[in-house]
Amino acid sequence: MKIKNSVSFNVDHSKLKRGIYLSKIDTFNGVKTITFDLRMRVPYKEEVISNMELHTFEHCFATAVRDVTEDMDNVQISYFGPMGCQTGYYLVVNTDIDDSQYYNVFCNLLEKACNYVLGMTEVPAKNELQCGNCYSLGTVDDAKKSARDMLVLVDEMKQQKDFHKYHFVD
Ligand SMILES: [Zn+2]
Repeated sequence: MKIKNSVSFNVDHSKLKRGIYLSKIDTFNGVKTITFDLRMRVPYKEEVISNMELHTFEHCFATAVRDVTEDMDNVQISYFGPMGCQTGYYLVVNTDIDDSQYYNVFCNLLEKACNYVLGMTEVPAKNELQCGNCYSLGTVDDAKKSARDMLVLVDEMKQQKDFHKYHFVD
C-alpha cells in the first residue's frame, strides 16, 4: 500500500541493504532540511541493533557530528537518533548548500564524524544529569564498533560516488 505522506513507509524494506540513504528533502523559507537514513542492518535478515549499542552510538555520534560541523556555516545538525525498528539511525541536517554538493559534503562529514568517534576515550553525557537512562549505556568500544560498521558504508559510497538508493513499493 502506497502511503501519501510518509516517504519511509513507501520504501520496499524487502530489498533494503545496509547503506547511507538520502531519504527526504524538505524546504521551508529557503532552508533545506535533509533526512538521511543510516541503515546499519538489513531488515529481517540481520539481527537488529541492541538497545545498548543504539543508545551508546547515539551519545557518541551525536556529539561527534555536531563537533565536526561546528565550524561549517552552511550545515547545521538538527537531529541524530536511532530508528524505532532498531536497524539504523536518522541524521537530520539543515543546509543551504547546492544539491550538486550533497554527496561530497555529507560523505566527508560522515567519515569525519566516524573517525571522531574512533578517537573518543569516553561516552559523552553518561551521567544521570545529562541522560534519561545512563545505566543502559555501553562503553566507548561499543560505539567504536558501530563507527567502524558505518565507515564500511562510507567506503561503499566513495566507490560508487553516490548515496545508496532505495527501491520503493508500487
Ligand atoms: Zn542517553
